[in-house]
Amino acid sequence: MAKLSVVLPAYNEEAMLLKAAETLKEILEKEKIEYQLIFVDDGSRDQTWSLITEAARRDSHVTGIHFSRNFGKEAAIFAGLANAEGDCAAVMDCDLQHPPQTLVQMYRLWQEGYEVVEGVKRTRGKESAIHRASAGLFYKIMSSATKIDMSRASDFKLMDRRAVDSLLEMPERNAFFRAMSSWIGFRSTTVEFDVQEREAGESKWSTRSLIRYALTNIVGYSSAPMQMVTGAGAVVFLMAVVLGIQTLVKYFSGHAVEGFTTVILLLLFIGSVIMISLGIIGYYISRIYEEVKGRPRYIISRKIQGETLSGRTPEKAQEKS
Ligand code: UDP
Ligand code: MG
Repeated sequence: MAKLSVVLPAYNEEAMLLKAAETLKEILEKEKIEYQLIFVDDGSRDQTWSLITEAARRDSHVTGIHFSRNFGKEAAIFAGLANAEGDCAAVMDCDLQHPPQTLVQMYRLWQEGYEVVEGVKRTRGKESAIHRASAGLFYKIMSSATKIDMSRASDFKLMDRRAVDSLLEMPERNAFFRAMSSWIGFRSTTVEFDVQEREAGESKWSTRSLIRYALTNIVGYSSAPMQMVTGAGAVVFLMAVVLGIQTLVKYFSGHAVEGFTTVILLLLFIGSVIMISLGIIGYYISRIYEEVKGRPRYIISRKIQGETLSGRTPEKAQEKS
């Protein structure tokens, strides 16, 4: 039977963890799908890790991975995929905002031969107006940068082993799962789902972390900001031509002394264009520097594997460090 690995990144999810493990176990067992649950503890500061250990004790299908610190959701997704043993692997949030019933639907589509099954949001769930607007802008930029419509994209996906392997082969540190899993191609389809409300705990994204996330991904996938520098240069050059002609005309007609206001305005304008441009280029250089350093995407400090069924002691979980 084909095995399904489910990757669940978890950051301070003590309120939802056991519930997620139990709900998935129940549904997947009912559907007779052989499964593996991989919880990736992204450096949580609450009881998440001990609850993952507990889940692994209760269910031999649970694998737990513990990061040495918070590396972010993208890193957690990739760590989970790297440890997936299944013939296909799915990624979903561990707060059950991605409905487990849709997971079964995805699995069935995979059985029909689709290699990438993407969950798209029918509705975005409850969000503030500002959040909705800035998310809209972010996805507009990302969609034009990646040439993939991402306005309703989510991290809720199921992929065939071949697709997972080709994702894992990509060397970049700054991995954006949502874009990369579309970029790899393969025979893909979509499934619509409604984002559920978070039952317990709160969203792990602060405004600051969302802005940083947006900037990193825009710079990682698009060179448009750098082209804006060229655009700004062209505008300044045009002004230079116009003002240059005006200045020369004034000089030859003998009224060359006026014009301090123009000089001050020009200095301020050109100065700020240059500095903003340097800032944009500097940001790209810093991203290149990060990639060149070639540090690992994440560091695993502990790993736990629920005892395999053949091990005959299901209540005892093995801990490796
Ligand atoms: N998450 C993570 N690392 C982080 C932030 C979030 O692994 O630094 C996980 C989190 O535990 C959850 C998923 O990513 O399983 C989605 O996070 P959240 O529900 O907070 O985001 P939202 O649903 O509000 O977009
Ligand atoms: Mg959530």
